[in-house]
Amino acid sequence: MSAFRFEIEAECPVTGARAGLLHTAHGTIETPVFMPVGTQATVKGVMQRDLEHDLDAKIILANTYHLFLRPGHERIERLGGLHKFMAWPRAILTDSGGFQVFSLDSLRKVTDEGVLFHSHLNGDACFFTPESTVDVQLALGSDIQMMLDECLPYPVTHEEATASMRRTLNWARRGWEHYRKREKGLNSALFPIVQGSMFPDLRRSCAEELLELEAPGYAIGGLSVGEPRHLSQEMTEATAPLLPKDRPRYVMGVGMPEELPQYVAKGIDMMDCVLPSRNARNGYLFTSAGKLVIKQAQYVEDERPVDSSCGCYTCQTHSRAYLRHLFQSGEILYSTLATIHNVHHYLDIMRHIRQSIVLGNFPELLRASASGSALLEPDVSR
Ligand SMILES: [Zn+2]
Repeated sequence: MSAFRFEIEAECPVTGARAGLLHTAHGTIETPVFMPVGTQATVKGVMQRDLEHDLDAKIILANTYHLFLRPGHERIERLGGLHKFMAWPRAILTDSGGFQVFSLDSLRKVTDEGVLFHSHLNGDACFFTPESTVDVQLALGSDIQMMLDECLPYPVTHEEATASMRRTLNWARRGWEHYRKREKGLNSALFPIVQGSMFPDLRRSCAEELLELEAPGYAIGGLSVGEPRHLSQEMTEATAPLLPKDRPRYVMGVGMPEELPQYVAKGIDMMDCVLPSRNARNGYLFTSAGKLVIKQAQYVEDERPVDSSCGCYTCQTHSRAYLRHLFQSGEILYSTLATIHNVHHYLDIMRHIRQSIVLGNFPELLRASASGSALLEPDVSR
């Protein structure tokens, strides 16, 4: 029997937001969930110990493209798989590599067979197919794996989007067949990805045809490619209701903190985004009272924590003044402390959202977030 199973614990009768449990071979994940991004088998700057014990992340995301190029999926497999390699006992989701490949300047050619690209590390020609990306992810041993899809830039014509969506469907059927043959222990799950650019009719056809695969979960991809944010939400809204209610739904690569409840309200169970970690390193901290730019001179002698309503290690231990000093000095510790805070902020929002769904007051939380009120307890220090 597969280790992968999804159950819904509570559902908001007004919005359809769900609180669920996603069971994997590496633990149970409470949904809706935000997955910190660990591109190179590391959430940059944060030790696995802190991710697990302090931040209590139940699942992280790793990038197939990067790990395929370096150190190589076969090497990781020889070293016992990705969990052992990076000493992360909890769940891992790997993307298919498609998003990275299609973002590359060195992308050379997309054919119905697959996609030819050049390594950004050494220029070597590489070829991804729906089958090969399944093989790479099986070698990594991730718990949730993604199907290769064609990820278009924005904007494209309806005609271009149609052709691309057809290719994604074809790849999904091939990848699925290959996965079914190869996956022996049934300890992972493979999610197909709904594409269709910003055209609701294409999103609908793509979703309907992907349902035939009866996959254990579905993703909505091709967002965060430069489109206005309201369009990412509209495409999610057009797609999510078409996906099976009893399977997890994953929107890829989205989410400012204030948008998280809005995606959950559309029936989304899983999200990931580089924003909390990348912004942290660049000096942008998310707080319950809005964004804080740590380099600003106003923080030079500010003894308050980044966010006095935050329970993270950074806020419990250090002042804005100290963080600003570390940032201005280019100290490594700054990145660690800032990332811990931002990731904690995101995970805490998701915990609040989940709790509100269970307690039956999610619509109030959603209204408060839409009106710009703080999602968490207000920052009393301001
Ligand atoms: Zn904090």
